[in-house]
Amino acid sequence: MKFEAIAREAVLLDPSDNLARKTIPNEIRRDPLTGKTSRICHFRELEWKKPDLDKLVAGTESWCPFCPDKVLKVTPCFPEEIIPEGRMTLGDKVLFPNIAPYDRLSAVATLGERHYIPMTDIKPRRIADGFRLAIKYFRHLEDIQHPESVYHLISWNYMPASGSSIIHPHLQVFASSFAPNFLREKLEAARDYMDKHGSNYWDDLVAAEKENEERFLGEIGRTQWLTVFAPLGAVGDVTAVVPGIRSTLELTDQDLDDLAIGLTKLMAAYDRMGIYNFNMSFFSASSQDAHARFHLLFSPRIYFNPSIGTPDVAALGRMFGESVCMGFPEEINKLLKVEFD
Ligand SMILES: [Zn+2]
Repeated sequence: MKFEAIAREAVLLDPSDNLARKTIPNEIRRDPLTGKTSRICHFRELEWKKPDLDKLVAGTESWCPFCPDKVLKVTPCFPEEIIPEGRMTLGDKVLFPNIAPYDRLSAVATLGERHYIPMTDIKPRRIADGFRLAIKYFRHLEDIQHPESVYHLISWNYMPASGSSIIHPHLQVFASSFAPNFLREKLEAARDYMDKHGSNYWDDLVAAEKENEERFLGEIGRTQWLTVFAPLGAVGDVTAVVPGIRSTLELTDQDLDDLAIGLTKLMAAYDRMGIYNFNMSFFSASSQDAHARFHLLFSPRIYFNPSIGTPDVAALGRMFGESVCMGFPEEINKLLKVEFD
């Protein structure tokens, strides 16, 4: 396992120090699986000031389609050949088709009746039950042998900087025979890795990270939590690998609880930095992919300039697919690890 980091530095004349020469370090890191690079730069203190979130969400209930007075009236239903009842429920959680689908099947699942839940108030049970509802839908697609029932993906965009247009917590529940770019690239790279090394990349990654400990966070049940070496996110990414399994449908009930517990630990740690937005996605292979391992990715989101709503992805990320992380993942790991010890 090769963790390649190329140290660089920029020299400039500092206007705050009488134009004296100043050296600013940065680093280019290569992802050991895909070879994709990330820049570790723009170093700053990993602390942000949260806005008044109650003020931000005030009034958004009035038009929220996921609130209990509206969810069963304004959200669409599946046609009878997919779900004869139209929608699926689990407790107070409801799953229905996305009104703006991006494939033959894309669904949304609410995480219950509460319109706004601060990140640190979201309990593991609520998350795990949201996953259970999504998996109930995926299993149904398997039962009816739907041709799109290949990759079973769950994503979570929490709060606006994540790309979410609705405050009410909800999951994107997506089954498709077309793997999205990063999933496809990871699957192909993991197949190449297995061909070359005769072993599973993800198993080797967990073993290597456990050994050096700089990026290992801990294990919950059998789920293995790691800070990502070359992250996509401005404040690092965390991945959780579930050994021995390839796909979402192989997750046990216990795995779902353990993944939910780990996510709440990350939320607690990032909340202390003043972060209140994140993306989370499942990376699931098809059941035949021996080179794959089920893993999820958690990536906190920020505004680069909150006062004018500047997102944390600019041309470098959007046009070149090159990500920028504002701290060394090993330093971010220390801030997260307190939750796992
Ligand atoms: Zn709502």
